[in-house]
Amino acid sequence: MKKQDLSQMIQAARVRQGLHYLCGYIDAYCDNAQCTAREIRVRIKTYVATDPVKVLCPLCGKLAKLNSVETLREHVKDTERKARVDVNVQRYLARTGRAYFPASLLFNDTLPG
Ligand SMILES: [Zn+2]
Repeated sequence: MKKQDLSQMIQAARVRQGLHYLCGYIDAYCDNAQCTAREIRVRIKTYVATDPVKVLCPLCGKLAKLNSVETLREHVKDTERKARVDVNVQRYLARTGRAYFPASLLFNDTLPG
């Protein structure tokens, strides 16, 4: 998804979710080289609340750069996919006894059959 302003990203997620409100996550990162924060994730519920217009880094207070706005369903689906990839990497390492794995495994989110 092309980067847009936060209100457009929230509206697009709301449409994908199919409801008039949004339960989901804003993912952003702090670009301040002097700040120790890297990734910022905010779980949101825009039911009766006003949509946020910006995300500030909780550590340095600077404007964070937006990565994405995910619906709860998208977030859960992605978390489950990453868990399957992690398990496949662990199974490969245990099966081969190696300390490294091919990068292609990072795209393998199939369940063992
Ligand atoms: Zn920061």
